[in-house]
Amino acid sequence: MIIKNGKLITWEKENQIIENADLLIQNGLIKEIGSNLYKKYPQEDSFDARGQFVMPGNICAHTHFYGAFARGMGIPGDAPKDFPEILKKLWWPLDMALDEQGVRYSTLVFAIDAIKNGTTTLFDHHASPLFIDGSLDVIGDVLLDAGLRGVLCYEVTDRNGPEGAAAGIKENVRMIKKAAVIDRLGAAFGLHASLTLEEKTLDACREAIGEGAGFHIHVGEHQSDEYDSLKRSGLRVVDRLKKHGILGPRSIVVHGVHIDQKEAVLLAETGTWLTHQPRSNMNNAVGVANIEDFLRLGIKVGIGTDGFYHAMWEEWKTAYFLHKVHHLDPRRMNAMNIVQMGIYNNAALANLYLPDATLGVLQPGAAADLIFVDYHPYTPLTAGNLPWQMIFGFQESMITSTMVEGKFLMKDRELLTLDEEKIAAEAQAIAPEIWKRYESFVGRYT
Ligand SMILES: [Zn+2]
Repeated sequence: MIIKNGKLITWEKENQIIENADLLIQNGLIKEIGSNLYKKYPQEDSFDARGQFVMPGNICAHTHFYGAFARGMGIPGDAPKDFPEILKKLWWPLDMALDEQGVRYSTLVFAIDAIKNGTTTLFDHHASPLFIDGSLDVIGDVLLDAGLRGVLCYEVTDRNGPEGAAAGIKENVRMIKKAAVIDRLGAAFGLHASLTLEEKTLDACREAIGEGAGFHIHVGEHQSDEYDSLKRSGLRVVDRLKKHGILGPRSIVVHGVHIDQKEAVLLAETGTWLTHQPRSNMNNAVGVANIEDFLRLGIKVGIGTDGFYHAMWEEWKTAYFLHKVHHLDPRRMNAMNIVQMGIYNNAALANLYLPDATLGVLQPGAAADLIFVDYHPYTPLTAGNLPWQMIFGFQESMITSTMVEGKFLMKDRELLTLDEEKIAAEAQAIAPEIWKRYESFVGRYT
């Protein structure tokens, strides 16, 4: 297929904007970039980008599909006053309420959301304690059928007893093996957070993971994670994870809001990835991670949505504004830092976990994961000022088409792999049951 008449944003290391460009796509890959390629390859079908911006699909470095049914749900009793209460009153009873159908529809509705928001690769962190065995297959099958790319994991925790922890370990090990031979699927070894993991469980996870895989774990999202770790082990969270062999160049720690400087240095020294989710941090009122310091230390920081809708530019904008107001200094969190995290670091992380394709860049040989953006700048737009044009001008509503591996998942705003009306109606039909089960589990954790 030839994509003609696009304005390409390549996101190569030296970013280029190429006007009036054509892309030749074959076997899911970008084969050639040039002008008038439809004349050179007259036998190829063509799609007219009509002057829209064409760029790599967005990547989300951390999310939770399992949270989908929280939308519009009431929390019984007093409103949670802090993050530990949010876990106990909202997320833990909700993940407990998910059966196979609940997991399937959570993933389906968020797959629709991702495609419409131009997010083509997602790192999911899953929990459904009453449906562990096979839960990652349900998620993986939905993503594959939808045409997306995903990196899955199951969050091991001791909060539901030793059987739950053992089943979680098994599910991770199984999916790491399975995903290794499936195109568009990868897997990490999920851990909930230090505060729900016992020493022996961390050791069992280290033993089970095998060589070449990495962990995906929440770290220091709230102060309680640090104090719990000190109480359990005499060590702060990152030190504790290091002692158990959890850190490393394939491991992802999420948030890092309350880690201290020594912990940040340990992340940098071990090459561990960190993901930033500012909308979630603001919503949970947990604080602001020292992201600029982390970047200066050389920590590979990516950006995720943490279960918010998968609008990556909205997450970028939140990061851009949050760090300015937090420091009372409009010079903080330069847009280039946002691009470093949201584009380059997220792409490097995706390429680590999904090595079969080159993601996050438009160049010959890279995956044809593309989004089409109907944006008409009324001031000069260059590779130099693009990050600011994006933060102040780009909106997900301008995304008209989404493609993965050369296949349109949404074409001119029409979803081609998923029936939104039908899926939303079916999700609505099971939602009351999920909410009822959720309410029956509230109060289980005190
Ligand atoms: Zn999370």
